[in-house]
Amino acid sequence: MLRRTLVLKNSCELFVPALRSFQLRRYIMSLAATNDICKKTIIPVEKIPAAKVCDATPRNFGGCHTSCGPAQNFLKKTCLFHTQRKIICPNGSKAAILPPPMQEVRLVYPLLAQPKNIIITTHQKPDGDAMGAALGLYHFLVQLQHTVTFISPTNWANFLNWMPGCDKVMDFENDREAAAGLIKSADLLFCLDFNILHRTKNMEALLTEASCIKVLIDHHQQPQADAFDYGISDTAKSSTCEMVYDFIEASPYRQLLNRDMATCLFTGIMTDTGSFRFSSTTPAVHRAVAALKDTGIDHTEIFEHIYDNFSESRLRFIGNALLNRLEVLYEYNTALMAIPKRDLLKYEIKTGDTEGLVNYLLTIEGIKLGALLIDRTEERKWSFRSKGNFDVNTFARTHFEGGGHKNAAGGRSSDSLEQNVQKFKTVIHAYEQQLQ
Ligand code: 5GP
Ligand code: MN
Repeated sequence: MLRRTLVLKNSCELFVPALRSFQLRRYIMSLAATNDICKKTIIPVEKIPAAKVCDATPRNFGGCHTSCGPAQNFLKKTCLFHTQRKIICPNGSKAAILPPPMQEVRLVYPLLAQPKNIIITTHQKPDGDAMGAALGLYHFLVQLQHTVTFISPTNWANFLNWMPGCDKVMDFENDREAAAGLIKSADLLFCLDFNILHRTKNMEALLTEASCIKVLIDHHQQPQADAFDYGISDTAKSSTCEMVYDFIEASPYRQLLNRDMATCLFTGIMTDTGSFRFSSTTPAVHRAVAALKDTGIDHTEIFEHIYDNFSESRLRFIGNALLNRLEVLYEYNTALMAIPKRDLLKYEIKTGDTEGLVNYLLTIEGIKLGALLIDRTEERKWSFRSKGNFDVNTFARTHFEGGGHKNAAGGRSSDSLEQNVQKFKTVIHAYEQQLQ
């Protein structure tokens, strides 16, 4: 039998099932309550993935995240929860922790053999790739007789509303109670096009606590692997839609690929590759697109839905931004654009209307870094794009609470627009060499 082993050096050996965090907490609670944790205890379990045990270092020690009653003090002294499914035991450097491995995504196929309650979700303000991947997978799972709900953490751009299945998407912000109920009773959760749960904004707590099996399919860097049971995280992939296509293609159900699924998946591949322009556009991408095209999709119509649907005010907003909000820092080969709130109001800018604006910055000859800052209601939101080796994922992580990919990343800040511009101009000094 496969099982996870938690070794408490100097004390005991536990076999701990691959439980969700709250179940695991209950398990440890019950052990703690009887003091069994200090004795030799073996808990037999079934169907548990093997895991290696590695040494914990003091930096792995975190606070006790449990809020459960009487055993808490005991736990604080004996067993500290760090992040979900990691257990850290006392004894300092002699303790061991259970690393939370993410099992291969192909192991999910057997779980799809019987009808299940399935939730699909993605990052807040989902873009073409996020919506395409979630809807493509939605159509696939529905055909397999599952009860499927795609819950988006927020609304999405109007120009994605034509996508097949869009009318069935639940917007968490409009339907919190129903969404919470569905998440609590789900068997399986698919997380697409993001890899850190806080990217789901107000859904983070619910998803963290959810007791179901969690699956990740994503192409962003530095995944929060301990939050997922199964999954694939591949930064070399052009898009999550390409990965969902791969997931379907490698499954025993590949014959289910149809025009609706292909339309959704093509949309995300097209938008995330900059219409097959970026270096992530591999031969495999073209092969996937050929298979999608074989289902009869109309790629011209899809392109027009996405790119030829501007309102007049959106076009004038872009004109104003290019004319009045653009600043070129030639010594750093950098173009910066900061959009104040009053512009968003004047041109009645809605979700998605600023998409693509950052790309104009890199169209200036010689510019290697484009930085767009927008004064949103709740925060200031950065978008970074780069050419060549300048790594905006690291840049965004280091200075603006963000992340993403090497050449496309985002960030955020609670400071004012002016403070952000000032900070950007200060921190960019250190990158002068890298930007030559
Ligand atoms: P965009 O500039 O189009 O909003 O985002 C570019 C890329 O960076 C996307 O892949 C997106 O998922 C990622 N990204 C955007 N904002 C954030 C953020 O605040 N945190 C992280 N980790 N990634 C972000
Ligand atoms: Mn993507």
